[in-house]
Amino acid sequence: MFNIIIFGPPGAGKGTQSAMLLEKYNLVHLSTGDVFRSNIKVETELGILGKSFIDKGELVPDEVTIAMVEDFLKTTKESNGFIFDGFPRTISQGEALSKILMQLDTNIHAVLALEVEENELVSRLLERGKVSGRTDDQSEDKIRNRFAEYNNKTEPLLEFYAAKNVLHRINGLGEIDDIFNALVHRGRLCT
Ligand code: ADP
Repeated sequence: MFNIIIFGPPGAGKGTQSAMLLEKYNLVHLSTGDVFRSNIKVETELGILGKSFIDKGELVPDEVTIAMVEDFLKTTKESNGFIFDGFPRTISQGEALSKILMQLDTNIHAVLALEVEENELVSRLLERGKVSGRTDDQSEDKIRNRFAEYNNKTEPLLEFYAAKNVLHRINGLGEIDDIFNALVHRGRLCT
């Protein structure tokens, strides 16, 4: 298995680049944000719980998110590997992911971190909010709160993965295809 984490702050382009990686490498995509949103749509228990945090721009508690991911991974064993998009977002999630992958006899091969400065991200998210219908993209307060969550809880994962020698930082500003090529080359994915 070949497992990739696509990492970065809200609006960095994780979803866009994941879609391109999926097509090229035939991997299974796990976007925790997408899983929460589809649960919110059909009002499952998980969706109702998740919505109360997502609507405030806060992270969903670790125990809820980790249980959801564990369930997904253990029921999708047959694959070439996974692209994790929006997970892990805390050190506890990172540790839990290592443990689950170890049980599946695999690990994380590359963490591709997209770097974009905050003011550019805010304007991207406000633009996305106009078309996506995502309420967490429609208010600058919620967006700023998501950045605060990112800076406090998610960014420390960069060190966590740097220490494992799997971290690759990529400039997330520019043409989508150029960024994709940079991901493939800097992440040493096969071409
Ligand atoms: P973005 O990267 O633009 O923030 P996502 O779709 O990845 O969008 O996430 C949307 C929201 O879903 C987050 O702000 C958070 O509330 C929740 N969420 C997604 N993934 C996680 C996670 N791994 N841990 C906790 N909350 C999460």
